[in-house]
Amino acid sequence: MSITCWICGKESNSREHIIKKSNIIRVYGKGPYKGENALIHVKNGNMKVVQGPDSKKVKYEFSLCHECNTTFTQPFDIAYDNFISFIYENEQEILRKRFVNFSDVYGEDFEEGQRNLYKYFAKSFGCRLYDAGSSVPQDICSLLKKKSFITGLRINFSVNEDILILPNKIRDGFIGKGDLLVWLDKTVKTEINGYTWNEHVS
Ligand SMILES: [Zn+2]
Repeated sequence: MSITCWICGKESNSREHIIKKSNIIRVYGKGPYKGENALIHVKNGNMKVVQGPDSKKVKYEFSLCHECNTTFTQPFDIAYDNFISFIYENEQEILRKRFVNFSDVYGEDFEEGQRNLYKYFAKSFGCRLYDAGSSVPQDICSLLKKKSFITGLRINFSVNEDILILPNKIRDGFIGKGDLLVWLDKTVKTEINGYTWNEHVS
């Protein structure tokens, strides 16, 4: 049985990074990560050595087709990279003000930039659900191709104060994704009616 791309339904032949390659390279360089530069990925309490930013250990199993994971979603990845770069470069000011103005991040095209950033998180979440064996909600699949949409996906940004007190040198290397939590229906206890998930950078 072939595995299908959760975005378009074609045969899946591409792996999405769990930890975004650009985030790994920003902090750890292009690798290989050896000796003093050895990199450890911790998943469900298990530690694995990662030798480079393209290691299979930081990728999901096949869940997308090549087209969906490259050309189609590239603008989303770029919007995310620009956002994270902006956060790194303006960290002190953001921490003081506690808001991000997307026109500062994306300039005049902020409408498209913030929509593409939203779609990056939708893709990231879809890959996580698919990896967990859950179907990806239809509104998440379909919004990726739309300019305006209605969806149940809500995205919040927050500052993790417990991590913030660590020196940059240590916390900049904390890049990862949290546990996927499932919310069950109050009456039909076997029915899933929501998920909560997070990803963190520094
Ligand atoms: Zn596809």
